[in-house]
Parts: sequence; C-alpha cells; structure tokens
Amino acid sequence: MFNLILFGPPGAGKGTQSERLITKYNLVHLSTGDILRSEVAAQSALGIRAKELMDQGDLVPDEVVIGMIKTKLQDNPTATGFIFDGFPRTTAQAEALDALLRDLETSITMMIALEVSEEELITRLLKRGESSGRTDDQDRSIIQNRIEEYTTKTAPIKDHYSAQDKFHPLEGMGTIDEIFGRISGVIDPVI
Ligand code: AMP
Repeated sequence: MFNLILFGPPGAGKGTQSERLITKYNLVHLSTGDILRSEVAAQSALGIRAKELMDQGDLVPDEVVIGMIKTKLQDNPTATGFIFDGFPRTTAQAEALDALLRDLETSITMMIALEVSEEELITRLLKRGESSGRTDDQDRSIIQNRIEEYTTKTAPIKDHYSAQDKFHPLEGMGTIDEIFGRISGVIDPVI
C-alpha cells in the first residue's frame, strides 16, 4: 500500500492537490474536515457537537476524528492506499493512526508538507471564503486561530515522522501545476 499524509496549515492547498493525486495514483482520499462538514450538514449528534468548535477554528477532540478515520479505513478494505488530508493534527492522532495502520499490516509511506507563508495563507482562505460558503474562511480572527492551532498543536507532528525518516517538506507557493509536479517528483521514485 501507499499511504500519504498531505500535511500543511489551513490554505496550504492540501484539498486541491489531493483531488489530483487520487486520480494519478488511485488512492482513497480521507479528509477529516470534509467528513466533519458532512456530519454537520446531516445534523448528526457528532456534527452538532463538532460544529461549535469548527466555527471557532478550534480542533475537535482526538477521539472523535480517530473514530472517524478508523471507520473509513474499515470501509475501504480493498484500497491500494490512502491520502490523509487534515489528519493527523495532533501527536496523539499520529500515534493512533500508526496503530490503526499497524493493525491493517501497513504503515505511513511518507508525509509531504506544503510550506506557504502566513500572508499567502490568509489571502487564499479569505478568497476561498467568498465562494465556498465556509464561515471559518470568512473571518480573519477565526483564520488566525486556525493557524495558531496548527502552529502549536499540529506542526510538532513533523518531528514524529522525521524520526521515522518519512518527512518531506515542499515549497507550496506557485501554480497548482508546479506544486503538483513537485509532489509527484517525491512520490514517483518510491511508488
Ligand atoms: P479543514 O477542512 O481540514 O480545514 O478542517 C476544518 C475544521 O475541522 C478544523 O478547523 C477543525 O475544527 C476540524 N478538524 C478537521 N480535521 C481535524 C482533525 N484531524 N483534528 C481535529 N479537528 C479537525
């Protein structure tokens, strides 16, 4: 299996690049943000609980997202690989993911981290907020909080995968095609 963590702050381009990567490499896309938004839309108990935190740009509890990922892994027994987008976001989530994959006799192949300046992230998110309808993309202070959550709780996961020699930082500025080319340049030699 080929299991990729596409990593980076909000607005780094993970969703956009994932859409292309699933087609090129025949992978299943698991975005915890997308799954949570569909739970919110369905007004499930989980969605109602998560909505308040998401609206503020705070992370939802680890056990909630870990449970969601566990279910999705079980739902896709024939997948040749996964792209994890927006997960893991804490060290506890990274450890839980390693354990879940170990149970399936597989592991993370690599983490590719898209690096984008904070100024560019804010510009991209506010622009996306004009068309996406996502309220967490429309308010500067909520965007700042999401970046802060990333910096304090999520960025340290890089060390977890560096220690396993799986961490690949990449320039996340430029055109969608340029960035896709850089990502492919890291994946192609190992897939
Ligand atoms: P995203 O679409 O990845 O930007 O996620 C939108 C929001 O969903 C985040 O601001 C969090 O509130 C929540 N969320 C998504 N993924 C996670 C995760 N792995 N852990 C905790 N909260 C998450």
